[in-house]
Amino acid sequence: MFQLDKLLRDNIRQLVPYSSARDEFKGEAQVFLDANENSLGSPLTRWYNRYPDPLQWKLKEALSKVKGVEPKHIFLGNGSDECIDVLYRAFCVPGKDNIIINPPTYGMYEVSAHINDIEVRRATLLDDFQLDLVHLENLVDENTKIIWICSPNNPTANSMDRQDVETVLNNFPGLVVVDEAYINFSRHRSFIQELADYPNLVVLQTMSKAWGLAGLRLGMAFASEAIIDVYNKVKPPYNINQATQELALKALEETGQVNDMIRALVSMREQMHNQLAELPVVRKIYPSDANFLLVKVVDARAVYQYLLDQGIVVRDRSKVALCEGCLRITVGTESENRKLLEALSQYQIT
Ligand code: PMP
Repeated sequence: MFQLDKLLRDNIRQLVPYSSARDEFKGEAQVFLDANENSLGSPLTRWYNRYPDPLQWKLKEALSKVKGVEPKHIFLGNGSDECIDVLYRAFCVPGKDNIIINPPTYGMYEVSAHINDIEVRRATLLDDFQLDLVHLENLVDENTKIIWICSPNNPTANSMDRQDVETVLNNFPGLVVVDEAYINFSRHRSFIQELADYPNLVVLQTMSKAWGLAGLRLGMAFASEAIIDVYNKVKPPYNINQATQELALKALEETGQVNDMIRALVSMREQMHNQLAELPVVRKIYPSDANFLLVKVVDARAVYQYLLDQGIVVRDRSKVALCEGCLRITVGTESENRKLLEALSQYQIT
């Protein structure tokens, strides 16, 4: 049985959170002398001299319409990376608790655990890159607080079987985080509409991929109101800056343009897949639900260096278990993809 209160660290359960000037006064006023800001303005524009809304309500209202999830079920982080880190700080006791990842997967679940001195247990994916449920179950003990599931997964590019994820959600009494950073490039259904069914579910999404806003740093966590309350207690007071709040709000008006980009990227992904498959240097291309391809090549290290020498940077994943001999290649613009394909077609196999 999932009991949020039991799962929390004692110090967080007892925490009196910081209350900012903006938390304490929410009404309309003409004179703001409560936050020690510079009342004269700033060298940029007069708006940046004020602290931003700590809970980003306007932005959450707009997101709520796009995502079909109420604002009270949304937490915004300085990138998903903050959404990941805050969970450790709220739920995992350093030196005592553990979490489970399903490698190969996104590296920050592990790095952030190490920063917080949390033990990392590994249920390596099966050969078809799906969850190893038996191994997962065997790793769980009474100190296991979080299971991280990345779907579509980075770097393997596949989505996890929905029933498998549901099995974990139904049987694990801790938090199950489903990281959907790449969901917009996939045909699979998001888990954000299932929050009512799973009190232990946290869904992560980000503005860094399909929305094209990696530079703004805006990640989203969707969860029960109780989990969102914990997030809000633990986060730094003004974690989303004013510029990001304003620009993200503007971007949310452009869903049409974003959908066009998603369609274009998915179509280029398929085209790249077909063109790469023709090249002698390519051994295998894994199916992708994301905006990148995992590609097995003849000699990954040498091909990686060869591409670098031509000014083309891809991600070398060849030393990662289950990804031996593989490069991870982001779908670029038409011209970037052409340059990559040209370079690879001229690679001399020795
Ligand atoms: N999750 C996954 C699966 C990712 O691949 C990445 C970035 N590569 C992130 C989260 C981090 O996203 P953000 O830019 O929102 O911190």
